[in-house]
Amino acid sequence: MHIVRTVKDLRALQSGLKAQGRTSALVPTMGALHAGHLALVAAAKGHADAVIATIFVNPTQFAAHEDLGTYPRQEAADLEALDAAGVDAVFAPSVDEIYGPDDATRIVMAGPAAGLEAAFRPHFFGGVATVVSRLLLAAGCEAAVFGEKDYQQLLVIKRMVADLKIPTAIHGAPTVREDDGLALSSRNAYLSAEERATAPALNQALRACAAAVRGGLEPDVAEAQAVETLQSAGFAPDYLAVRDADTLGPLTAMDRGRVLAAATLGRTRLIDNIAL
Ligand code: AMP
Repeated sequence: MHIVRTVKDLRALQSGLKAQGRTSALVPTMGALHAGHLALVAAAKGHADAVIATIFVNPTQFAAHEDLGTYPRQEAADLEALDAAGVDAVFAPSVDEIYGPDDATRIVMAGPAAGLEAAFRPHFFGGVATVVSRLLLAAGCEAAVFGEKDYQQLLVIKRMVADLKIPTAIHGAPTVREDDGLALSSRNAYLSAEERATAPALNQALRACAAAVRGGLEPDVAEAQAVETLQSAGFAPDYLAVRDADTLGPLTAMDRGRVLAAATLGRTRLIDNIAL
């Protein structure tokens, strides 16, 4: 497995792949890898001949009060896991390599980047779109894979890539969960034992809300019930919303619905979503 730290070396690596007639798929991550990330690697293998993973904790998607400083970093273990998963190359740049000292360019988005997460993390999608555009342009892969775990982010990236005409096909991959339904997340490491026992209530609330709407309950009534359930379980919910899966606007049809939620448990903010 090749490990590259600079855009220059990444481009040289991509030129080498192209010279061999090999396509590649990119799997961007912030490290602290778990089975969800490795499922993206497995999916990427289905889209190209070679897989390039990236490890970069992107400062521009964290607000000053968020967990940039304490975000789990474990590069040696991550490289080992990626090597074992059969990744061909890893791009693990420094912050300065991605954001030079005179850096002055940011992506600003509307559309799927409005509402839900953006109402609580207004800086977030601008930071994500900015770094993902840079990673996609630096890597020059034919495909890239992102998790449905971050469903609104997946729609934002698809929109950004279409708008900027970046020649990389964006694929979503299903959420990998613990047996009790909790979506795998690097931030689950922050949970105390007691919080970990409570955490599956988020996925349960999503499923209960979806079942209620499918059963004929008005979405806003089902949402309010689910929010109450979460509060009783000890969460501080930011939102729990039934939306159109493509636009994130109001629900238009049962088979096009998505239920999305974010809620804080102790000091850990968890997000999850399911198809209606
Ligand atoms: P992160 O390292 O958390 O920024 O996530 C990197 C990529 O992994 C994103 O495309 C996420 O959506 C995806 N991802 C994170 N958790 C999961 C999961 N439990 N299942 C599938 N994909 C995931």
